Amino acid sequence: MRRLTVLGSCAAWPDAGQASSGYLLEYDGFRAVLDLGYGTLPRLLEHCPDGRVDAVLITHEHPDHCADASGLLRMRHYTAARERLPLYCTSGVLDRIEHAEPDITLTDVFDAHELPQCCQIGPFELESMTLPHHVPNVGIRLIAPGLVVAYTGDTGPDPALEILGAHADLYLMEATRQAPAPPGSPRLVLTAREAGEWATKARAHRLVLTHFWPGADRAVSVRQARETFHGDVLAAEDGLTLLLE
Ligand SMILES: [Zn+2]
Repeated sequence: MRRLTVLGSCAAWPDAGQASSGYLLEYDGFRAVLDLGYGTLPRLLEHCPDGRVDAVLITHEHPDHCADASGLLRMRHYTAARERLPLYCTSGVLDRIEHAEPDITLTDVFDAHELPQCCQIGPFELESMTLPHHVPNVGIRLIAPGLVVAYTGDTGPDPALEILGAHADLYLMEATRQAPAPPGSPRLVLTAREAGEWATKARAHRLVLTHFWPGADRAVSVRQARETFHGDVLAAEDGLTLLLE
């Protein structure tokens, strides 16, 4: 079974009943988690009740992407999980998790690897690259036989987005904004139209928009992205599962 499940899709903070960024990617029994923002851990445990996943990848240190890694650390510690869990993230993420938890040694629970790097993770070849955001953010590209999945984390417009999502079967792109950014402001997030433009440049097959500002009408974002990308576009909604075969 190859599928992507949306654990959460809100930018910044989670709306009532929702969660921030988090995704479960399953490939023939291998389970990788991409980001663990606010409220994603209970959603993850609905799919993996024992908290057993094979790898966690976190794009950057903002809590809407990493807050619940602290909960996973506690769960694995207090349930005496035997094996250390591979964690791929920026150094800032490690600092956040450590500072949230004075009583547990992070390296007892996680086998930490710093991003960006290129390596093999289970069936996936990982490629990763730094993208512009308020803090170091790493875009993730996972390649396995018959499947390419790319995920931006949070990013402004950048030529690397074309490389990150090149010919991806599924390009998961942040689309924080609907209105154009004010002139002269630093570009550290994307509009939905820009997400569509970069997905077109990358020749991605399917565009999944995510990281919606709380309260935003997601149908508007999808319509805007369809103006600039003519493949399949949909909005990540909490609980949505997409088959990848
Ligand atoms: Zn974010």
